[in-house]
Amino acid sequence: TPRPPLRSLSADELATFLAARQEAYTALQARGLRLDLTRGKPASDQLDLSDALLGLPTSTTDRSGTDVRNYGGLEGLPELREIFAELLEVEPAQLLAGGNSSLTMMHQALTFLLLWGGPGSERAWKDEPVVKFVCPVPGYDRHFSMLADLGIEMLSVPMHEDGPDVEAVTALVADDPAVKGMWVVPTYANPTGSVVSPEVAQALMSMPTAAPDFRVFWDNAYALHHLGDEEVRSADALGLAAAAGHPDRPVMFASTSKITWAGAGVAFMATSEANRAWFLRHLSMASIGPDKVNQLRHVQLFGDAEGVRAHMRRHRALIAPKFAAVDAALTDGLEGLEVAEWTRPTGGYFVNLDVLDGTATRVVELAKEAGIALTPAGASFPHGQDPRDRNIRLAPTFPPLEQVETAMAGVATCVALAAAEQLRAG
Ligand code: PMP
Repeated sequence: TPRPPLRSLSADELATFLAARQEAYTALQARGLRLDLTRGKPASDQLDLSDALLGLPTSTTDRSGTDVRNYGGLEGLPELREIFAELLEVEPAQLLAGGNSSLTMMHQALTFLLLWGGPGSERAWKDEPVVKFVCPVPGYDRHFSMLADLGIEMLSVPMHEDGPDVEAVTALVADDPAVKGMWVVPTYANPTGSVVSPEVAQALMSMPTAAPDFRVFWDNAYALHHLGDEEVRSADALGLAAAAGHPDRPVMFASTSKITWAGAGVAFMATSEANRAWFLRHLSMASIGPDKVNQLRHVQLFGDAEGVRAHMRRHRALIAPKFAAVDAALTDGLEGLEVAEWTRPTGGYFVNLDVLDGTATRVVELAKEAGIALTPAGASFPHGQDPRDRNIRLAPTFPPLEQVETAMAGVATCVALAAAEQLRAG
């Protein structure tokens, strides 16, 4: 039988509901759980999929005969760039293969822009009176903390199912030259699972901007991380921007952190010829070349782009049941109450849970006191401030399936309890 919405209950019914939830919560606490849904990390069985890396590479030269044990090749191994250029749908010449973290490459691109400006800049960004970035919310917490750390102001815009709110973005960038850039996670966004549509991508790549050196940090961290049969293709940011006369606007990032080993993979960056030359020029002051041994072992692990796709299907088999378990537990505990909405992502690493306004902090606190660690409420917003205090990011990949089931049933209890408390307080 469908449950009535919590708001429709009489005072007595609500009191009964609240008492029942308090009892369920006490029982939950008594179980002495110790569960963690905080970070989007691969589980150990996912990491095992890449254990062949431990025995690779089986040779010391790349295709061209270069000794990968030695310095050089700042742009990365050509054969690895070919594989990932096919997967990311860019030209190999546009793609750099770097170190172990795309976040580091984003940080480098940003600091280079601050210190020296880039193609199209009138001056170094540090010499501007103020620098602002457009931030689709909810978004990736580390994007926002990076900007905060570098003294860049953040302007929030809503993230929709088809990407950032185009009207809000175009209004912010049109007249204010201090707005220098924006974050976009185009495919299976962290945490909403949104996929930027070709129309939204077209708008972002062609919109007029007051800043002549406006940059879109196109962080395609989850381009290949499908959870279902439908394998969406990312919008072609570089092609659309070039066609619109803004070839230097997008800078795409990706990595194998959630393909092979998080922290021991390879990061990628794809951008225009001018941006690439600019980035390599500054990078060459900081590095004589990337870890080509690691790049070569990745080439040998995969063989080709199809090898990567097959590898991702093995990840999917391991983690799709965990996402299904999240949905099942939330449906079981909350359906009909109208106190929560959550995503059923078709890819990526997160489920976005929106609870009753004003209760997210309370839900996270209740969960913590029951031994279930959730990402702090507000984490997906600039400065950790969710204006509605309703957003919770769930990361179900790391714990074993049974723990995801247990933890999420507990989370549903906490969501319902916090909602009942709030409605009764009224
Ligand atoms: N971008 C997004 C959107 C992410 O969610 C993550 C990982 N949580 C990263 C980048 C980090 O990537 P890397 O490991 O390549 O630094």
